[in-house]
Amino acid sequence: MARILTGVKPTGTLTLGNYIGVLKNLKSLQNEGEMFIFIADLHALTLPIEPSILTKNSIDIACFYLAAGLDPKKNTIFLQSSVSEHAELAIILQNYLYMGELSRMTQYKDQSIKLNQNAIGLGIFAYPVLMASDILLYDVDTIPVGEDQVQHVELTRDLANRFNKRYGDTFTLPQPLVNKVGKRIMSLSDPTKKMSKSDSKGDIYLLDDEKTIRKKIMSAVTDLDNTIKYDVNKKPGISNLLTIYAALSDCSIEEAEKHFSGCGYGDFKKEVAEVVVKELVPFQERYQEILSSGAYKEALEEGAKKAKAVASKTLLRVKEKIGLVTL
Ligand code: AMP
Repeated sequence: MARILTGVKPTGTLTLGNYIGVLKNLKSLQNEGEMFIFIADLHALTLPIEPSILTKNSIDIACFYLAAGLDPKKNTIFLQSSVSEHAELAIILQNYLYMGELSRMTQYKDQSIKLNQNAIGLGIFAYPVLMASDILLYDVDTIPVGEDQVQHVELTRDLANRFNKRYGDTFTLPQPLVNKVGKRIMSLSDPTKKMSKSDSKGDIYLLDDEKTIRKKIMSAVTDLDNTIKYDVNKKPGISNLLTIYAALSDCSIEEAEKHFSGCGYGDFKKEVAEVVVKELVPFQERYQEILSSGAYKEALEEGAKKAKAVASKTLLRVKEKIGLVTL
């Protein structure tokens, strides 16, 4: 059975980008393979974060996974930090990726521009090494990700290839799986930028209330042309709203365009807001129930045990291949 793995960093409140890019698809993917779903809490340390916020965000993501319809019995849902093999494998794998490769990663370049040159942590530079460990520990075939993470998955493939050539078949080569519609949801306030967790105007947060969601969509940046057409270069705002609508209505962009042909921007935005509210409000209700019942705790404990059982075998295999003495 195919193995599928995906993770989300608890660096901030999750956005509609995370939801459309990854969360929404998990429910159906669980019928297609064995899923390992984790909270990338060690990755969250690569940028400064308050301890209490890290804790809250991590618990929230566990609840979001369950609210997205993942069955904790069928899937392995866990915290990255509770399976120490991730960190151990990263120490080994850091020797098989090169400084040049790491410095060419877009995420590293973007983040380091934002940081003071003297305060760029090693963790942000070495991020793809830990991410490769996350993936390779579970002999994963498929990684559902948004477009922004494809470069890291490709680097993981390079690393796995390099390692396999040197030591013989050790790692499975993973394949990124990117949505046809919704691989990159853009900011509502600047539709040329990715919707990411740090822009309260341009983001729709998964816990925003109904009124806020409607308000943010009604004030999304568009253009003066007043035709609803998908054209990322000339009409990035309208294209983004069409993408959100199509992803949440399970239709193609062409079908969405047809649906709105002749419609004014005001009515178009109202309808987009309606599908977002219809999707997120019941999702938020499930999240609240899971949070208050504490059901996420059991899921994470069980998940850590199941993940560790697989990860420890891979780590042992790697240690033997490279000549570390295993007792
Ligand atoms: P992160 O928030 O960086 O931990 O990302 C978690 C997952 O959500 C990754 O698979 C990302 O590629 C995906 N993701 C994040 N932001 C977006 C976005 N704006 N559009 C689509 N997918 C996204």
